[in-house]
Amino acid sequence: MGPNIPDPMVPVGQPPAALYNPVFDTFLCKIASRCNLDCSYCCMYHLADQSWLRRPRFMSETTVGDFARRLAEYAIQLQLPRATVLLHGGEPLLAGRQRLSAFVGRVRAEMSLAPSCRVEFAMQTNGTLLDRDWLRVLSDLDVTFGISLDGGRSANDRCRLDHAGASSYDRVREALDLVASTEEGRQQFRGLLAVIDLRNDPLETFEALRSLNPPRLDFLFPDATHDAQPFRPASGETSVAYGEWLVRIFDVWFENPGTTRMRLFENILDLVLGGQSQTEGVGEGRFNLLTIETDGEIEDVDIFKSAFHGAASLIVLGHATPNVSTHSFHEVSRTPTARDRQRLHSNAGLCDTCRRCPVGKICGGGIASHRFSAARGFDNPSVYCRDLYRLITHVGTRVGLSLQPLLTEGLVRLAGAYATGGSWK
Ligand code: SF4
Ligand code: SF4
Repeated sequence: MGPNIPDPMVPVGQPPAALYNPVFDTFLCKIASRCNLDCSYCCMYHLADQSWLRRPRFMSETTVGDFARRLAEYAIQLQLPRATVLLHGGEPLLAGRQRLSAFVGRVRAEMSLAPSCRVEFAMQTNGTLLDRDWLRVLSDLDVTFGISLDGGRSANDRCRLDHAGASSYDRVREALDLVASTEEGRQQFRGLLAVIDLRNDPLETFEALRSLNPPRLDFLFPDATHDAQPFRPASGETSVAYGEWLVRIFDVWFENPGTTRMRLFENILDLVLGGQSQTEGVGEGRFNLLTIETDGEIEDVDIFKSAFHGAASLIVLGHATPNVSTHSFHEVSRTPTARDRQRLHSNAGLCDTCRRCPVGKICGGGIASHRFSAARGFDNPSVYCRDLYRLITHVGTRVGLSLQPLLTEGLVRLAGAYATGGSWK
């Protein structure tokens, strides 16, 4: 298409399509659609979207083959230097060692056709099924993994119970002990992922998780929208309870460098200092991740399922649902829905309030699905707006106060050097 010919996919008055064409480099594959836990906040089973009910339990060999072929084709077409394949579920370990090995083997075989693209495999698991055999398989296949755990026993068991209502804590702790005691475990383990629960004390939660020595620790806000508000104490929507909860952990973490890496805090620090965010949730985002369901359907991230039934769908009205058996990833990237999602993740997709916000460049409106309301779609600030503002301004203030003595000392030395005609050092 020549430069002066309007792109028919873009509504009149919108910026050029290239601005909104997403490039995907991360592919979240649901290799199992069921889970042995029944966490009360699960975005797959307990929120607005119930599409898991019609999906097969496991990804079939044919779908795996289609996905692998599509990935190699896309990597070659876009000359991707790197692609990440995330093994997810439900609980991905339910797929079993044979299926998982076959999946990784098939993807690697197809990706040998795209040798300039480095493909990495990572998995998020609830950890309850992780044993020595699994650790050996994950190590042999070079699949890294993160484990979900919300804190100590009582904190974790508020929401992370199995289908019989029993605690998952001991099984996860056993797995973590095994991880820590084996070479394979230590090599492949990347960290813990916890969902914030305001009923849990922030410092106790942090300490319970930090004491397990994870290489990294991430806290997630619970999935929520303006129509399905997150739990808050009495002060309701005006409270900054999530912000305060994180501020208390930030202070301890900031004052004790080297305890553990924390992605949310590190990203805010990077942004405060003028850098870029490496993850969704703060800063300007990118629509770079596609989800492949067990039946091969290609969707947006699960977290959109908290907005409304079908929100994660990338379907174009009047067209078939994108599926790895029928659609290339390049075709998906050219659909109006994918372009709209790309806009939504960028600063151009923010509402007026976020665009005028003094911390807007750092916050980026938070996670896109947290902005949703039935009345205004995604044209809102985050449902965690006050919390994000509280946390970001606090981090900014702490960084400013920490840098002040260094800057003052530097200026004094510079003035001294200038006065005596000496050198800066
Ligand atoms: S372990 Fe994950 S997939 Fe399973 S119920 Fe809990 S949140 Fe959902
Ligand atoms: S703090 Fe609130 S208004 Fe500011 S960018 Fe974030 S969500 Fe938008």
